[in-house]
Amino acid sequence: MMWFRRDLRLNDHAALARAAETGPVLGLFVIDPHLWDKSGAVRRVCLLRSLDALNEAMDGQLVVRVGSPTEVVPAVAKDVGASTVFISADFAPYGQQRDADVERALLDDQVALESVGSPYAVNPGVVRKSDGTPYQVFTPFYRAWCDSGWLAPVANTTPSWLNLVSDPWPTAELPAGVTLPAIGEQTSLDLWRTFHTDLIDEYPDHRDRPDLAGTSSLSMALRWGHVHPRTLLAELNDSRAHDVYRRELCWREFYADVLFHVPQSARHSLKPTMQAMRTDSGATADARFAAWAEGRTGYPFVDAGMRQLLAEGWIHNRVRMVVASFLVKDLHLDWQRGASHFMEWLRDGDIASNQHGWQWAAGTGTDAAPYFRVFNPVMQGVKFDPDGDYVRKYIPELAQLPGASAHTPWDAPLLAAEYPERIVDHSVERNEALARLAELKN
Ligand SMILES: Cc1cc2nc3c(=O)[nH]c(=O)nc-3n(C[C@H](O)[C@H](O)[C@H](O)COP(=O)(O)OP(=O)(O)OC[C@H]3O[C@@H](n4cnc5c(N)ncnc54)[C@H](O)[C@@H]3O)c2cc1C
Repeated sequence: MMWFRRDLRLNDHAALARAAETGPVLGLFVIDPHLWDKSGAVRRVCLLRSLDALNEAMDGQLVVRVGSPTEVVPAVAKDVGASTVFISADFAPYGQQRDADVERALLDDQVALESVGSPYAVNPGVVRKSDGTPYQVFTPFYRAWCDSGWLAPVANTTPSWLNLVSDPWPTAELPAGVTLPAIGEQTSLDLWRTFHTDLIDEYPDHRDRPDLAGTSSLSMALRWGHVHPRTLLAELNDSRAHDVYRRELCWREFYADVLFHVPQSARHSLKPTMQAMRTDSGATADARFAAWAEGRTGYPFVDAGMRQLLAEGWIHNRVRMVVASFLVKDLHLDWQRGASHFMEWLRDGDIASNQHGWQWAAGTGTDAAPYFRVFNPVMQGVKFDPDGDYVRKYIPELAQLPGASAHTPWDAPLLAAEYPERIVDHSVERNEALARLAELKN
């Protein structure tokens, strides 16, 4: 039996290949109310569409059941007479606990839970310093991760599928205004093919430009396991452009490693001193949070990013950094509040990459990027969206402002009359953020 989780594909799938070696396979997905109830609508729709695509690739043989995996997995294993349940390992805190519980429940029926591979090229916990301790800084982790190497893609298999009756699938609807791209393994492989053939050589120069289609857009595919990173890594060479892309794939693995070693970092600042940072709450803070979430801060680069999230369930990486910095350092709100909002709306929402991406921007995490480095939302916009195309795409109120002038609508108030005033003064709030940092040092 193959219990699918974050590996919703058929190709380059180590656990499925191993299951297929043992004979006909039952493919199961369990919709776990614990995860489903906490998910936002975007994530639910992503899951259902991913399952649809997988089921179609399996000629309709995917078995979907709803309930606690601790009960459902042993029950299905019993019904189908399975002796082994194969999984790809899950290294996130809830997944680890769930799998330990399921393993115990299966053992009561003399069924084994066999973990083969994971959603990562190198499993979290494997790359360590020479003294055995985990890395806290990315660049040395990257070198050691490359040195450790990874397996070649696993040969594709065509299992002979067993079947049982599925439960009725739950339904979910996208929030009004959100459009998602096509979802599934074949679509993702096509996306990779196009990126690898046409775009990757420009990646080092274009990847920070939200006005260009310069990144691979594969984060959703990697999050749901429509592709395995090994498939991508196998096609990278030693050129600079390919190395830059390999580094980005490694950030995902680095953050999974950090979360594995410090599971509390999903909720708390990794740097203990930063846990005492003074943040705002109350009615003004709530109103500012709402303005940020709805893309009405009066800072075009920030607002375009937040409106992109509400329209596409995705934001460009450069803009994620800027909107996160703005929430923490200009609005003085907890990074956890922003991270939850992202998890609710992102189609690639991933606990390790998201929480640590937020901690990076907040200056509370692993990286050397310190708290006192505060992004200027206007200069970031001018630098990375030099013609203003990105902000005009998401903010129709700025349509009349040509070129980079779209980043400074306050200079042409008559042409941007419908666009909101700035809710805070960046230079004032920057000083406030630094003053709060100084309090921690005293
Ligand atoms: C505040 C914040 C929150 C984030 N939340 C998430 C999240 O929930 N899920 C998520 O997948 N990424 C997250 N990221 C990382 C990054 O923004 C996205 O992975 C990237 O924008 C996805 O677009 P892409 O696939 O075109 O990336 P590309 O530039 O094509 O990169 C290729 C792949 O590398 C990985 N990657 C690239 N940059 C990072 C990074 N900084 N951290 C981790 N992985 C990276 C992703 O899997 C990505 O698909 C976050 C970053 C920040 C600053």
